[in-house]
Amino acid sequence: MKPHLIILGAPGSGKGTQAARLVEKGFTHISTGDLLRREIAKGSELGQKVSGIMTRGDLVDDNTVMALLKANCDVDKVSYIFDGFPRNIAQAEMLQAELLSESKTLAVYFKIDLGILINRVVNRRTCGNCGEIYNLTTKPPRVAEVCDKCGAHGALKQRKDDTEEVISNRLKIFADSVDPMLAFYKSKSALVEIDASMPENVVFSALEKVIC
Ligand SMILES: [Zn+2]
Repeated sequence: MKPHLIILGAPGSGKGTQAARLVEKGFTHISTGDLLRREIAKGSELGQKVSGIMTRGDLVDDNTVMALLKANCDVDKVSYIFDGFPRNIAQAEMLQAELLSESKTLAVYFKIDLGILINRVVNRRTCGNCGEIYNLTTKPPRVAEVCDKCGAHGALKQRKDDTEEVISNRLKIFADSVDPMLAFYKSKSALVEIDASMPENVVFSALEKVIC
């Protein structure tokens, strides 16, 4: 059986794309958001509790998320990708102790220079008409300001929060929460670092080598 993977990476590191490709290799992607919605739809006791918390506009606490994971994961039979949870060291320790203590687990860190990330994000443009995503430096449209996919003119927009100030701030918050997690998995010899500045296919090949 393949190990469980804890996916760690800054916003814009490409970890979402890589996680999606791993699903094709037999991993099951765990989204705590989806689990929450499904549990509510089931109308279980836990679902009703979660529904109450969310209706009040509160965040679902870590113990409830853990209960949800325990109720829905068969860690002895299925290799999971945890993406977006754990978000901090407290959640990482909890996940390890309460769900993965007997399982082979690898934390995969998509490491990328913050300058590259900021560049990626501030140069990102999205077609307001069809949603196609461009990057002015790495993937510009063939004709400036015209969408390759749908042909819309002047529709390439920058998202409001894709500014240097916003992304720098998000990256700082990310670094503060990820550093203790990296130390935690490293101390368990369960940390793998992948150079996420490489092209998508190269990153994926590197990933396949360490996990398969
Ligand atoms: Zn378009």
